[in-house]
Amino acid sequence: MSTREEKRWQHYQADKAMRVARKEIKRNRKPKGGRSKEDITGRLDDPNALDELEFPQTERVMPRGERERRRAVMTAALAKLDQEKGASDGSLAEETAGRRGVVVEVSSSLCRVDAGGQTLMCGLRGSLSAQETGFTNVVAVGDRVMVSPDGAGRGIVEAVLPRQSVLARPDVFASHLQQVIVANADQLLIVASWREPALWLELIDRYLIAAGRHHLSPGICVNKIDLANSAAICRETLAPYIGLGHRVIFASALTGEGVVELRELLRDQTTVLAGLSGVGKSLLLAAVQPGLNLRTSHVSDSGEGRHTTTQVTMLKLDGGGFVVDTPGIREFGVSGLRKSDLARFYPEIAAVAGDCRFGNCSHITEPDCAVRAAVRQGSVSEARYHNYQKIYVALS
Ligand code: GDP
Ligand code: ZN
Repeated sequence: MSTREEKRWQHYQADKAMRVARKEIKRNRKPKGGRSKEDITGRLDDPNALDELEFPQTERVMPRGERERRRAVMTAALAKLDQEKGASDGSLAEETAGRRGVVVEVSSSLCRVDAGGQTLMCGLRGSLSAQETGFTNVVAVGDRVMVSPDGAGRGIVEAVLPRQSVLARPDVFASHLQQVIVANADQLLIVASWREPALWLELIDRYLIAAGRHHLSPGICVNKIDLANSAAICRETLAPYIGLGHRVIFASALTGEGVVELRELLRDQTTVLAGLSGVGKSLLLAAVQPGLNLRTSHVSDSGEGRHTTTQVTMLKLDGGGFVVDTPGIREFGVSGLRKSDLARFYPEIAAVAGDCRFGNCSHITEPDCAVRAAVRQGSVSEARYHNYQKIYVALS
């Protein structure tokens, strides 16, 4: 089988497995009967068995002593890892070697793990549980894991390492819990286009807020700069952002402008992409690294509800680092943000807000507002203030 065919086959299998898993999840929601306690990982050696697999959902009812036993397994795995880590320099390359890996794709209870350059389709050790973590999923894209390969391109995730950061959102079925969308991301790359679709500064602000709320370092890339009348007008428009210290890359996937800069920005980082469809994310990535394809790597999905439609894929960069594309990123923007907290994400507004007459000034209608005065004087950008107003009004 060619690599391409193999990929397709794996996607096909994963898709099939996902459909079976969904059926199982549905069945589990019904109160009747017990859950299959079978460890799915034991049957992964036989690819045909995937057709038959039933994936137990995170088990909520456990036999006495089981939780302690699982803790012991996890502790032992982590201790072993610490030991190994002590001997390494802690670099990502080191971390992906041997039994350590990075989850690059998740579909139901199966995940694809990049372990030292080898991609393994993995099941989860039955003893792993998301219980008591506050999250509904055991593994997410970006998770650093320990795997035991079976020597035939498959493996079992034995442990999930502590996460450095988490992009999560309320779970669709259990809103008091969170669903991890991406683990261990470093930065958020906001991709916009100068035209087609037209530059939309409010959306850039919303993504900047998302980055701030999730402690991701933001970067802005304005693509399709070839469609601008002059470079000067682009710089002028983005000046407030450059003035705030944001990294702004003017690029054209078509002419290659800014691509070297972009490649540098992505190197050795786990970068989450944010941007409207059509701004040129795919083409830009292909320019950064020929062959890198955002579109074809998604596991296909038959679209049974939002829970399962967010397919997150992490692509590995030759120069080091990963790029994550998730359609779910829009939901990370300002949802759940309180009106009174908005100004915190506008440092130039927060800097002068202390001079407003009212301590709880919204900077929209109140008299003697230092923020509006600053806008009039030009020390706060009109465009940024305009976005602040629009987002403020839209917040509940
Ligand atoms: P995505 O949805 O963000 O991944 O966007 P694509 O990469 O699929 O690009 C959308 C469209 O914009 C395609 O027709 C591309 O050819 C076009 N495009 C992408 N980058 C550029 C660019 O730098 N300049 C121009 N003029 N067109 C571009
Ligand atoms: Zn004010």
